[in-house]
Amino acid sequence: MKSNRREFLKNASILTVSGVVSGSLLNNIANAKPLFSIDGVGKNHFVLPKLPYSYDSLEPFIDKQTMEIHHSKHHQAYIDKLNKAIDETKISVNTIEELCENVSKLSNALRNNGGGHYNHSLFWKLMKPNSNGKPIGNLADSINKEFGTFENFKLKFSDAAKGIFGSGWAWLVINKSKKLEIGITANQDNPLMDIAEFKGYPILALDVWEHAYYLKYQNKRADYINAWWNVINWEQAEVNFNKVF
Ligand code: MN
Repeated sequence: MKSNRREFLKNASILTVSGVVSGSLLNNIANAKPLFSIDGVGKNHFVLPKLPYSYDSLEPFIDKQTMEIHHSKHHQAYIDKLNKAIDETKISVNTIEELCENVSKLSNALRNNGGGHYNHSLFWKLMKPNSNGKPIGNLADSINKEFGTFENFKLKFSDAAKGIFGSGWAWLVINKSKKLEIGITANQDNPLMDIAEFKGYPILALDVWEHAYYLKYQNKRADYINAWWNVINWEQAEVNFNKVF
């Protein structure tokens, strides 16, 4: 056992996550990296990104207490466990995206907590008070092209989010064919991960873990999903979209 562990640590210490991204999904889709530099990223050590709005500013759609616990407790816990797992395995990480893309080579702790950090960082930025309620620019055109109408897209995305069994996320991504696609991932997996069945570059993300809505909506996930459409930061979604094209 002892020598196995030593062997593992030896291998782990030479695994540089950032060194193995060529041919990656991000490169294939957009020829650039990192596509999305998430606030609060530092080499081998991640910190909680500040929310770009106050905890109560998404009321009445998402309540203050949920936002505060979700950001300062849940997201912080993912980051603490992620940093601990990085220290323990002695890997070298430049960006959270690279970690996600190479997650098949890493431990479950890195997968769950690395995913947790990436997903929540994205999620916060994709919400805002006083949303204009509708996609804009190139993303709006592309949604109309792929889904017919925004209303149809909304229905399909909402159905995907409602249909997730247990904890997970609903996504709008740009897939390998450079088309918009709706899909889901379980737990804290995301479409950047090499182990994900549903892959792509995230444009929109919706957290449907119970901790995201239970205080206000209890078991009524559909009500939370309906409310979320009122707080989407479509300007940020457009920024994400334009990073690919
Ligand atoms: Mn969450």
